[in-house]
Amino acid sequence: MPRRALRTRSLRRKYVRTPGGRIVLHYFKKRPNPAKCAICKKELHGVPRLKPAKLRQLPKSSKRPTRPYGGTICSTCLQKLIKNAIREATD
Ligand SMILES: [Zn+2]
Repeated sequence: MPRRALRTRSLRRKYVRTPGGRIVLHYFKKRPNPAKCAICKKELHGVPRLKPAKLRQLPKSSKRPTRPYGGTICSTCLQKLIKNAIREATD
C-alpha cells in the first residue's frame, strides 16, 4: 500500500523495473500537454510544460520566445509567413 499522500487518482503512476529486478510503482504529478504550433501542430520549443499556476510564477521572457507570434507559431512557419508576405508585397 502506498503512503497516504500517494493514494490519490490525481497522480500519474508508472510501473518501473528496478536494477534488482523488482517492479515498483513510481508516482508523478500530472503535466499538461506541450504547446503546439497553430499551423503545423509541431511541439513548440521554449514554452515550459507547466500548469497555469506554475506558469504565473515565471517571468514573461521564460514563458515563450520573444519574437512575433512566439509561443503560438513555430519559427519555421513564421519564416514562411514572412517570406510569403514579402513576396506578395513586392509583386
Ligand atoms: Zn509550425
